[in-house]
Amino acid sequence: MEEMKEVIETLKQMTLEENQQASGGNESTVEETKENMYIRRERVYPDIPRQVGFAFDNFMLLHENFKRDHPERPARLMSIYTHLEKTQILKQLPKIEFESVDEKYLKMTHDQSLINTVDLSIYNSKELRRGNEVPKLAKETHYIDNDVYVNKYTKECAYLAAGASVEACKQVYSQEGQMDAAFAAIRPPGHHASCEKISGFCLFNNVVVAAKYLQSELGMKKICIFDWDIHCGDGTSQILYQDDSVLYISLHRYDDGMFYPGKAGSPDLIGEEKGKGFNIHFAFSAYSNKNISDMEYIYACTDLLFPIIKEFGPEAILISCGFDSAKGDPLGGIGVTPLGYSWMTYGLMKICPDIVVLLEGGYNLDALALSSEAVISTLRIDPNDQESFDKYIEKRWSSEQTFNQLSEKSLQKAAKEFREPNAYLRKLLQPFWKCLQPESAK
Ligand SMILES: [Zn+2]
Repeated sequence: MEEMKEVIETLKQMTLEENQQASGGNESTVEETKENMYIRRERVYPDIPRQVGFAFDNFMLLHENFKRDHPERPARLMSIYTHLEKTQILKQLPKIEFESVDEKYLKMTHDQSLINTVDLSIYNSKELRRGNEVPKLAKETHYIDNDVYVNKYTKECAYLAAGASVEACKQVYSQEGQMDAAFAAIRPPGHHASCEKISGFCLFNNVVVAAKYLQSELGMKKICIFDWDIHCGDGTSQILYQDDSVLYISLHRYDDGMFYPGKAGSPDLIGEEKGKGFNIHFAFSAYSNKNISDMEYIYACTDLLFPIIKEFGPEAILISCGFDSAKGDPLGGIGVTPLGYSWMTYGLMKICPDIVVLLEGGYNLDALALSSEAVISTLRIDPNDQESFDKYIEKRWSSEQTFNQLSEKSLQKAAKEFREPNAYLRKLLQPFWKCLQPESAK
């Protein structure tokens, strides 16, 4: 332990000296850098398999719509939990203990009016108008937005989901943390909640709250949010629209603006001011072809998205993990399999091994269970041990061929549905990313 502290101190000193040189010895810049420099922690237990923390609290099952069936329901989390228990994976995951989120991180993410809306959501608005601030009965549900229902427990669930996101990051990225990666099985989801508006089953934007924690407490300068939910994370996109310290990448169904959340998912929305080029919407259509699956996603990642993330060089990768892009999901209508999620996870780990996965959507219970298993099992594999990864996917998901053997040509052919959106986005983003520029222009 003492030795570790010494190494960290030496690293800090080296970085400071480097900065001192770069700034020509300017004292104030050095002081500022000292406060904000993120230093990656060494692995706590280098000789044992990667430790993947699991954040779950059954209190989050209490947010429920008693009025009518709703896809965002408690059974979603239970299907993940019981599957991990049945497959004996759960007992191998250190538990992440967490509490309600500290309001200061919410304030960095949302307007006070949104926080107030969540705080007051336990009261029925009709009752409030009548001046009766009476907490609702547990089984009563009302709507505080077109598609956001609340009951008596919703507020606390929202605070817990955001709290789990922060704690997962603390465990993976802070010096006192113990874990290599984390998976947070949380609800309500977050990526549609914007600065001032709850929306799309989402109250607090958990992933942005987590990013704000990383920036404010650990001084991180470069965070990547990779969002593979079938819907564009329009809330995340909006909050970070002028931010160049968080690279937001959303891979989503768009259908020319006919798919939720409509035009907010447009590929033309690439950020503004210094954030221009850091808001990336890979938007595809699926109304004519419902067979979109792993190959298309792998193509988009290999050809466009992963090179951009590599060039960005993130200190942290947070996955906005919606499994409504999975095969069999009633809302998504496409067909990513556990193998596809596993491949994407491993690809991201190779760019940055420290990953925190936060659950967003996903409404098919079997797909939720299996896809979560795939992501968690992958997080446990050493990112430098390609052989173990290949063996794992072959054995568990019976892949016919390992993906790294695919030629670029065969991938392009298999993913023809994605060629057009890929080319369109590449052109839009070319001015901002060297990796997209032709060799001669670099
Ligand atoms: Zn979704």
